[in-house]
Amino acid sequence: MTETNDWQILLYYKYAYIENAAQFAYNHLKLCKKLGIKGRILVADEGINGTIGGPKEITEIYMQLMHADPLFEDMEFKTSTGPADTFKKIFVRYRKELVTLEYPEMIDPNVHGGKYIEPTQLKDLYDSNEDFVIIDMRNDYEAQIGKFKNAVTLPMQNFKELPELVDEQLMKFKDKKVITYCTGGIRCEKASSVLKKKGFANVYQLHGGVHVFGQEYPDNYWEGKLYVFDERVTIPINTPENRKIIAKCLHCGIAWDDYINCINAECNKQIIVCPDCRIKWNDGCSDDCSKKPRNAAPVSA
Ligand SMILES: [Zn+2]
Ligand SMILES: [Zn+2]
Repeated sequence: MTETNDWQILLYYKYAYIENAAQFAYNHLKLCKKLGIKGRILVADEGINGTIGGPKEITEIYMQLMHADPLFEDMEFKTSTGPADTFKKIFVRYRKELVTLEYPEMIDPNVHGGKYIEPTQLKDLYDSNEDFVIIDMRNDYEAQIGKFKNAVTLPMQNFKELPELVDEQLMKFKDKKVITYCTGGIRCEKASSVLKKKGFANVYQLHGGVHVFGQEYPDNYWEGKLYVFDERVTIPINTPENRKIIAKCLHCGIAWDDYINCINAECNKQIIVCPDCRIKWNDGCSDDCSKKPRNAAPVSA
């Protein structure tokens, strides 16, 4: 028998109208503290989104409690295993939107979103000769280190820029079969809604995002790694024999895909730098930044 201290990590979201969401967030924080759940949960009028973890038995209780609430009875939890203490604290925050888009019109993904396409259907599309366009709805620094084969990527720093980028770069795909994807699906609910509102005729969103697809097909449909918003920064998707590096070292251009933060605390840019160049450039992104000592106090106005 092997004893494991590994945690169970849960990823989940659901768009559903929560009445008095700020109060809900407050009560939910108390519940999580009582259980000993750690991680980050966002609550908005439009729904809930969490990345949390804890010992398996505790996360199981959490899922049961959530499923007992009629609002979340069909909530899909993606589970994975991570080292104990993957998250140090618990945050439950109320926000205006789950994913900030600030779209001028009302968007209810349950009404306006694209149809779900399951991982197996996407795999079949790749294996067939059918014409389709697959669009990465994540930010550029995420797509830079990993994406679906032949995916269209956008020079997007922030999801709010999406509607403008659709106008500028995607309208040529308006009449095509379009598949959108993101990490876990939550951004696609809104991104696919935007496409449909802008007149796209045939819009699908990858159900469960890259996370679920990668668990089912760790083959060569995905290229590179997956960017994640926690301490891990990146995780592999493909089986070892199907892995390749699609990014380059900022300084010398060799194939490399590990992010570091620029040594200059005032800059702190997320950069891809190979081990040799880390030494040569003192973990800086530029000549200027390389000369600044680590943790130099930010200049305050
Ligand atoms: Zn280099
Ligand atoms: Zn810098």
